[in-house]
Amino acid sequence: MNQSNQAREWLRAMNLGHPIVIAGPCSAETQDQLLETARGLTKTKTSVLRAGLWKPRTRPGNFEGVGALGLPWLKRAKEETGLLTTTEVAHPHHVELALEHDVDLLWIGARTTVSPFIIQDIADALRGTDKVVLIKNPVNPDLSLWMGALERFEKVGITQLGAIHRGFSSYEKTKYRNIPEWQIAIDFQSRRPDVPLILDPSHMGGRRDLIFELSQTGLDLNYDGLMIESHIDPDNAWSDAAQQVTPERLGEIITALKMRETDVSTEEFHNNLDALRAKIDVIDTQLIETLGRRMGIAVQIGQLKHNNNVAILQSDRWTSILERMVSAGLKEGLSEEFTQKLFKAIHQESINQQKSIKDS
Ligand code: PEP
Ligand code: MN
Repeated sequence: MNQSNQAREWLRAMNLGHPIVIAGPCSAETQDQLLETARGLTKTKTSVLRAGLWKPRTRPGNFEGVGALGLPWLKRAKEETGLLTTTEVAHPHHVELALEHDVDLLWIGARTTVSPFIIQDIADALRGTDKVVLIKNPVNPDLSLWMGALERFEKVGITQLGAIHRGFSSYEKTKYRNIPEWQIAIDFQSRRPDVPLILDPSHMGGRRDLIFELSQTGLDLNYDGLMIESHIDPDNAWSDAAQQVTPERLGEIITALKMRETDVSTEEFHNNLDALRAKIDVIDTQLIETLGRRMGIAVQIGQLKHNNNVAILQSDRWTSILERMVSAGLKEGLSEEFTQKLFKAIHQESINQQKSIKDS
């Protein structure tokens, strides 16, 4: 058995299916809310029930979770529905309580992954156990911090690990609550293909209407599973109301997703092809966005030249850009001819946009 099979063994041993679906409310609110949600989820492909008990809120005063009071509710939901359970631990004391109450998997929240001190304390509290630990990416786009958290658990002997990609915080307002930065997760996957990767489209999108498309991208990129927030009455949820869906809607989303069968050899080629194409799609989107930003700056320069009555074309500057890019391109394995053509096209578009600037 190779390294990649070994680390995935917990997924198989626990019979969690592919893709693994972890679902449940952002927060456990009452015993009834949790039990009813869990009952609804048994009609879907969900195999693990999630519920936050200790909620890491960005600002104090928001609902901070029911805490240890919810532990027996999780246990009861497990006994009644057969779903495994998971909750977020953010402190060694949470670990102690979760272990006492047989929570099956633990997850580390994004605000915790950023702190090596807390991660170390949590890892120390888990030493000697065989818990499955799922580590969310840190709030800031830093691959090393994410890898570092994983390594701290490995160092204390926790080998049943998984990673959850929930997107990254940015000051800039985008359509996502947390921007995906797919490239970071793809880099994680290529460095640690042995660690199952799970997508959390709920915290990434922050809106229930983005869950489907984000989940499909995750599956196309060969993710091993999804963690999706589900609540019996999403609009009245005590936390993250806008991004939660009813168990029924969750069932519809999962059914509509195009699944990837990872272990059927005839499908392997297509799966690999789809995964590579999905990577290309991510990079192409980045390229267009980068070009759009470059063009925006070119327009600002055009405005400045216009206001100061300076000619649009400054040939020295253009020649030096071209030379610099051709030599950078050669280092990346791109031919001189290609880089020349590409930058001439970009430059032409900048000139066209600058020419259209009129007196304001
Ligand atoms: C959560 O899963 O409810 C949560 C708080 O997530 P994150 O750590 O990704 O913000
Ligand atoms: Mn949440």
